[in-house]
Amino acid sequence: MTKYLLLLLLPLITYGQENFDQVLNDQYDRFREQGIESRRFKHQDIQPLIESIGKEDGFTLTTLGNSIQGRSISMISVGTGDVDVLLWSQMHGDESTATMAMFDIFNYLKENKDILQGLRVHFIPMLNPDGAELFQRRNAIGIDINRDALRLQSPESRILKAARDSLQADFGFNLHDQSRYYNAEKTSKPATLSFLAPAFNFEKDMSEKRESAMKIIAMMNEVVQKHANGQVGRYSDAFEPRAFGDNMQKWGTSTILIESGGHPEDREKQFIRKLNYLSILTAIKGISDQSFKAKTTKAYWDIPRNDRKLFDLKIENLTFPYLGASYKVDLGIIYDEIENNSHSDFYLVGKIVDIGDLSTHYGYETLSAEGLTFKTGETYPTILSSFEEFRELDIPQLLRSGYTSVSISDLPTEIKFVTDPINVVDIKKIRIPRNNEMPTSPVNFGKNPTFLLMKNDQVVYAVVNGFVYRIDGAVNGVKNGLVE
Ligand SMILES: [Zn+2]
Repeated sequence: MTKYLLLLLLPLITYGQENFDQVLNDQYDRFREQGIESRRFKHQDIQPLIESIGKEDGFTLTTLGNSIQGRSISMISVGTGDVDVLLWSQMHGDESTATMAMFDIFNYLKENKDILQGLRVHFIPMLNPDGAELFQRRNAIGIDINRDALRLQSPESRILKAARDSLQADFGFNLHDQSRYYNAEKTSKPATLSFLAPAFNFEKDMSEKRESAMKIIAMMNEVVQKHANGQVGRYSDAFEPRAFGDNMQKWGTSTILIESGGHPEDREKQFIRKLNYLSILTAIKGISDQSFKAKTTKAYWDIPRNDRKLFDLKIENLTFPYLGASYKVDLGIIYDEIENNSHSDFYLVGKIVDIGDLSTHYGYETLSAEGLTFKTGETYPTILSSFEEFRELDIPQLLRSGYTSVSISDLPTEIKFVTDPINVVDIKKIRIPRNNEMPTSPVNFGKNPTFLLMKNDQVVYAVVNGFVYRIDGAVNGVKNGLVE
């Protein structure tokens, strides 16, 4: 009866659908949870938020159990309908984007329960709190929970399975993050969000449940495209018999995988968090009013496949000398995040991860070295006696003069990086080459990219720790220099 009523109301509701996501977008700042600003938060940071939302009218907080190290795993439920929707995030401890979005969604739902008609929606934020504590993928015994759906050795896995089974969840959202180096196939656009309606067998057969997942994804894709045009990928549907998404689909829950990837100038994923918010709320509303049924599976298959051909920086046509010859190459450079001891912050280390013909690859940032002359940067000859002396240096002038590093005789050990475009060398760590040792190539696979690009004997660009500094003053991409 209720379903029949919904069908009658459908034209009316879909009319409202037109600008639903527009209104969500316009009002986002009102609902954005201010208590979380960046990716590396822990169980203790979100517990007060979870407890507070549990006390709100219409919300129920259930403690489902504990992680291996005894951290509680919670479920927040809202809505009074018969159709159960289950969303779980951060099964991988360092994949926190959707967890952030969940708190924004709670704030929205506090005032807008009308979109939940016919539904009861259950959220499990941070399924792997022990992994989140160390900002690592795996749990406290090193198991990848997403390969434990059959054996169920981890309490976190058993908790998720038990939640699904007790609810007999009709719809499931499996919320992850993927590498920022994924792109939408054959384009330079990052796969900022990737979607998958997982297969439930090796044959990748279709079922009504899987088809529904595809249609919901088609709906979410439309919304994301408005804000990140071309930045959506379709994740591989190769069947993984041990994974949760694939098994959820098999167990009868119409399952959607969302992978949050990268976006330019959004290392902390705050824009991507908003895309999660917009697309997940759109999906929830679409399930409630069944408007997703008007979408096609073709729209799902039309989403470009995920590829992995992005670098943080691509330098094209760099000619460099080595042992009397010269070589013309492209460089693929990424920035590795090196964390502090408490896993709460990080600095970046540039690394050449590919070299050669990279004409099939892309960069978040691209620099052409065509027509420029390669030069190895020098170390400033004066050895500084303290970090205070370093603070007084005119660093742009040093770069213009061909120096890409300075040495300090008594560098405090707690200084791991500098926020200036120059590397710092601890003279205690300088390695003296052995006699007759073959000099190493100035750029190489795995090496930190630090060098100068010259024109008419003038430095045009300094590449320091993989970051590009334009000497004419237009500084771009400044993050940090290295302490070596
Ligand atoms: Zn994951």
